[in-house]
Amino acid sequence: LKENNARSIWHPMAHPADSRANPPTIVTGAAGVRITDIDGHEVVDAVGGLWNVNLGFSCQPVKDAIAAQLDTLPYYSTFRGTSNDKVIELAEELRDFFAPDGLSRAFFTSGGSDSVETALRLARQYHKIKGEPGRVKYLSLKKGYHGTHTGGASVNGNANFRTQYEPLLPGCYHIPAPYTYRNPFNETDPERLARLCLAALEDEIAFQGASTIAAFIMEPILGAGGVIPPHPGFMKGVRNICSKNGILLIADEVITAFGRTGSWSGSRHWGVQPDMMCTAKAITNGYFPFGAVMIADAMAEVFENDSSGKAAIGHGYTYSGHPVGAAAALACLAETKRLKVNENAAARGAELYAGLQALAEKHDIIGDVRGGHGLMCALELVSDRATKASIDKPTIATIQETAYRAGAMIRISGPNVILSPPLVLDSADVQTILSALAAGFEAA
Ligand code: PMP
Repeated sequence: LKENNARSIWHPMAHPADSRANPPTIVTGAAGVRITDIDGHEVVDAVGGLWNVNLGFSCQPVKDAIAAQLDTLPYYSTFRGTSNDKVIELAEELRDFFAPDGLSRAFFTSGGSDSVETALRLARQYHKIKGEPGRVKYLSLKKGYHGTHTGGASVNGNANFRTQYEPLLPGCYHIPAPYTYRNPFNETDPERLARLCLAALEDEIAFQGASTIAAFIMEPILGAGGVIPPHPGFMKGVRNICSKNGILLIADEVITAFGRTGSWSGSRHWGVQPDMMCTAKAITNGYFPFGAVMIADAMAEVFENDSSGKAAIGHGYTYSGHPVGAAAALACLAETKRLKVNENAAARGAELYAGLQALAEKHDIIGDVRGGHGLMCALELVSDRATKASIDKPTIATIQETAYRAGAMIRISGPNVILSPPLVLDSADVQTILSALAAGFEAA
């Protein structure tokens, strides 16, 4: 298998020569919060699949729901003129679940990148219907990640995911992120930094002209960019600025929806109601490619009361409203609520964050510890704390391999160790992750 893997699978995040020299781990099984590999190692998955396996790998109600749906209606799309009972039931459930976020309509997609692309398109179409066709630009945060499609890549705020695909969509501008460890203002106080970033947003809006901007898209807590929680007032500040300027606020909650932050959504965590919310990942616990864009009432009404004939948006997917995905999502939502996974995320997240802070006292290689909002934590690694210089690849490899042998699959992305385990893990699993990391840092 290892040889066939090197010969025939394209692994996009590694240079082909790297994946030949260091073949990826071949995962052969998974149960609970653990995965097993082809060599027989069993480890805690501190990555939670890819931030999506919130309920762990043994979620029987989801398996049953998928199997039952395959026996009744295995496929039909909501792309044109048809719907299905499962997806209607799901939309109603999501309407209740996201009611406190002011969101009531669902547009179904096949994943996070599709959800982002959908929201970006809906934003432009909304302004057209409202008679402001000049609102076509998008603003977003540096260090933000919004998927791999061209619209998403254009609003991405990380050079690694953009520059090689330029020219991207014109009219996308990026605002400094509220990232206290490194920022252009050299500001370490989160509240003052939030104010500076908000001022930069206002400045950019004034520079571009508010009437040219369709939407601002942000993750309530930046995820792939290295888990960067802003000051609690930041997203509210963004909301106010968007409302004042007629700009739609899109919350990209592909990671943060469904309990990961300790709240049911990242927007709710910060007390904000967005105009649209992109979801995917945990909506089906990784068991089926699926996503939903949730849309606010006021926005949906503009489409529904349209007399211009522009409301049919000419957008959708072969897999929009897939009944098997909907059945999986319904079962996931029921389990998510029954198990109150947000509460466990908050409690275990606090233990993990405290443990990471203790590790930072012992290991100079840890430059910054970020967390405190459920099960989204990161360590930013440096070779020198004073200069914040980056660490080299062999050291990263040593940490990752040692941690794996000591019992935890961790993810190192750039200089960051990102920790996003299933929300159902227990305190002993948290300790396993911490001791595996400690072993990695000692080896480094
Ligand atoms: N938005 C955010 C915030 C994400 O974290 C991701 C994936 N990591 C995406 C969008 C893209 O989702 P997908 O990989 O399902 O297309």
